[in-house]
Amino acid sequence: MFDALTDRLNAVFRKLRSKGRLHPKQVDSALGDMRVALLDADVSVEVADAFLDRVRARALSDEVLKSLTPAQQVVKVVRDELTETLGGEHRPFTLPGANPSVILIAGVQGSGKTTHAAKLARMYREKGKHPLLVAADLQRPAAVHQLFTLGEEIGVPVVSEGRDPVKVARAGVRHAERNGLDVVIVDTAGRLHVDEEMMREVRRVREATGAHRVLMACDAMTGQDAVAQARAFMAAVDVDGFVLTKMDGDARGGAALSITGVTGRPVFFVGVGEKPGDIEPFHPDRMASRILGMGDVLSLIEKAEKTFDEEQARESAERMLSARFTLEDFLVQMREMRKLGPLQDLLAMLPGVPGGKNALRDLQVDEGELARTEAVILSMTPEERRNPAIIGGSRRLRIARGSGTTTNQVNGVLRQFEQAKKMMKGLMGKKGMPRIPGMPRIPGL
Ligand code: GDP
Ligand code: MG
Repeated sequence: MFDALTDRLNAVFRKLRSKGRLHPKQVDSALGDMRVALLDADVSVEVADAFLDRVRARALSDEVLKSLTPAQQVVKVVRDELTETLGGEHRPFTLPGANPSVILIAGVQGSGKTTHAAKLARMYREKGKHPLLVAADLQRPAAVHQLFTLGEEIGVPVVSEGRDPVKVARAGVRHAERNGLDVVIVDTAGRLHVDEEMMREVRRVREATGAHRVLMACDAMTGQDAVAQARAFMAAVDVDGFVLTKMDGDARGGAALSITGVTGRPVFFVGVGEKPGDIEPFHPDRMASRILGMGDVLSLIEKAEKTFDEEQARESAERMLSARFTLEDFLVQMREMRKLGPLQDLLAMLPGVPGGKNALRDLQVDEGELARTEAVILSMTPEERRNPAIIGGSRRLRIARGSGTTTNQVNGVLRQFEQAKKMMKGLMGKKGMPRIPGMPRIPGL
């Protein structure tokens, strides 16, 4: 995500840092470089300039220039103002409390409406709601079929009764009322381009259903196009906020950075994949950190918390903290890591990964090695797992035989474990987690 922009901004910061004391001229030159980087990332000119003006005003203050670490202060100012540009405070997407609550999904064709409708439905079902999906995109027959398939996959009912989108939508709301379903998500038709007919249809569906919320899906990979579409939708139908889809692709940053500045409406969600679970709430501060290559540790932890078996993870984490980390914990952690998904996605979210995501692109989890490690640990006695120091030559041989490996491979596992243990100690030592500049401390770590 935003790799190119991140690299360019970091190059600007590196140059600033190399200077020691800062002069206004150097700040201006850095701002000039940042402007080019932002415009190349397809950020709208007015949004970029407003952002840079704010950064300039703060960066040229005595407080920054005369501080002991002026370059660091400038980075912090950039981070703050980037957060502001992205919308400032996190704005959670809330339901109106009506029964049923009706949410309309709008946007041009291919922007990810149908996919997001399913993601929202899944999210609400997980929260204990009873959602209904309404397929009111009658432009393409395949669109209705697509929503039915998704509904089946996530276990959420889908309806599409009638030939006119307005009637289909209205019938959907009635169906929800009759069946005690409390959240209605209406998938509307998109056209290839913004046109008057599409706007009219969305307006009519909105009126007919009394929709409480209108969410617009914008493809983050299309940059300024998405912003132009957002502007047009705002003028014609008024939307409550946006979903930035395909953020897992090579979004350059233009759409994410411009859309709120241009429309005054928040981004509520980001789509980070094609699957119904690939949805994240949008947090301006976390996104700013990510853009600046500071990593998104909080989202990473949230993702981990969702996936981990909480009890087991808590116990294992407690043992890690108390330096009683055993081979059993090693096994648990390894299995949990695998549940989190591709390792390279995970690592890319961590700050300070050398070379950034590019360096990790070819990294593959070696499932064979994971399985071997697992077999070796499982072939140990519980006592050996808790106290590997007792594993001498004959035990090694027995473990190797039991797990179908060689003593060399057993040694390898033990070495890896020792390394992991050493790393844990370093991480969890008296200094706590490595400090990320400008990031809040993580409670409990
Ligand atoms: P619609 O025409 O607006 O309803 O768009 P769809 O929901 O059909 O999505 C268009 C294409 O984009 C489909 O192939 C989706 O699988 C894909 N897509 C949607 N959201 C995301 C996302 O967040 N990430 C990725 N990688 N693909 C997405
Ligand atoms: Mg669709």
